[in-house]
Amino acid sequence: MKPFAYLRARSAEEAVREHAAHPGAGFLAGGTNLVDLMKLGVETPALLIDVSRLLLDRVTGTDDGGLRIGATVRNSDLAAHPEVRTRYPALSQALLSGASGQLRNTATTGGNLLQRTRCPYFQDTSKPCNKRDPGTGCPAREGAHRDLAVLGHSEHCVATHPSDMAVALSALDATVRLHGPDGERTVPATGFHRLPGDTPHRDTETLPGELVTEVLLPPPPDGAASLYRKARDRASFAFALVSVAAVLSVRRGRIEHAALAFGGLAHRPWRAHTAEAALRGAPAAPETFEQAVDAELAAARPLRDNAFKVGLARALAVDALAELAADS
Ligand SMILES: Cc1cc2nc3c(=O)[nH]c(=O)nc-3n(C[C@H](O)[C@H](O)[C@H](O)COP(=O)(O)OP(=O)(O)OC[C@H]3O[C@@H](n4cnc5c(N)ncnc54)[C@H](O)[C@@H]3O)c2cc1C
Ligand code: SF4
Repeated sequence: MKPFAYLRARSAEEAVREHAAHPGAGFLAGGTNLVDLMKLGVETPALLIDVSRLLLDRVTGTDDGGLRIGATVRNSDLAAHPEVRTRYPALSQALLSGASGQLRNTATTGGNLLQRTRCPYFQDTSKPCNKRDPGTGCPAREGAHRDLAVLGHSEHCVATHPSDMAVALSALDATVRLHGPDGERTVPATGFHRLPGDTPHRDTETLPGELVTEVLLPPPPDGAASLYRKARDRASFAFALVSVAAVLSVRRGRIEHAALAFGGLAHRPWRAHTAEAALRGAPAAPETFEQAVDAELAAARPLRDNAFKVGLARALAVDALAELAADS
């Protein structure tokens, strides 16, 4: 590991100020992703600004009946929060499906959102990788890509985003609050992560030195229920091959509200806008769910070894919608 300096920030303002003053600095939260990448030589920050002790570790109600989640709230605490478990079950389930108990006790909301891809070439500094080292190429396209993207990829990168939590936040219409050198702003969770295009080194829409300070959840739509389902190679301690977060409300047999997001399929959580448009106002019936999900997945462009993800995504999403409809 390369030598680095360490600073514990006492406020968000100090963290942002120090980051701006030290090019090459990085924010450290739980360290469960960043420190691993430093050991591998993938990340080499000259200064670590520790934000894990900032007073952003609370989950509180908002005036509109939603929730405000501080960036340093631990994944375990968020998953167990009574309001999250009862009103936003998709979020609690997504968190509990990720990593292990020990990791979730350490990992934070901000760090989870900003975690980096698990593409094996990205993590191996002896290999080229456009995301880690722009312009060097993408060996995954023709190489080991079974776990990688089928939607929205580019010739420059076929990586997937690994966070389960981010998929649930997208379907729940969360927004992310950022504090940067030029002040504060919010970004919808659905637009927070990027598609790779020709700039795969940029995972998100954050600007240099912007700190995630909180995530805001709107109140759930009237009568809506939500869930998260994940398919993976092992029953625990494994990233999603495919996952789905679904939110659904049904009134007199017709779908009033539908939100669907996929994980494991793209460089960002994939919000299924085409499927949602087909679902809204339609009868809550199996054929509606199948047609809507098929319309979304028609855009899939699988690589040589990952076409199985399309069928898996279809099965997970159709089952999730049917389960929510049966319960509503
Ligand atoms: C073995 C293993 C299995 C795992 N399995 C899963 C899984 O199944 N599903 C899943 O979703 N995740 C999984 N993870 C990943 C885990 O969820 C992440 O490592 C964790 O959420 C990162 O949070 P952290 O607080 O430790 O972030 P850190 O490692 O501290 O930081 C991660 C990144 O976020 C940046 N950052 C941190 N906080 C902020 C902030 N407030 N503002 C701006 N930038 C910030 C850091 O600079 C860094 O770039 C797994 C990890 C391991 C090691
Ligand atoms: S898929 Fe992306 S992260 Fe993986 S090798 Fe290609 S450029 Fe790098």
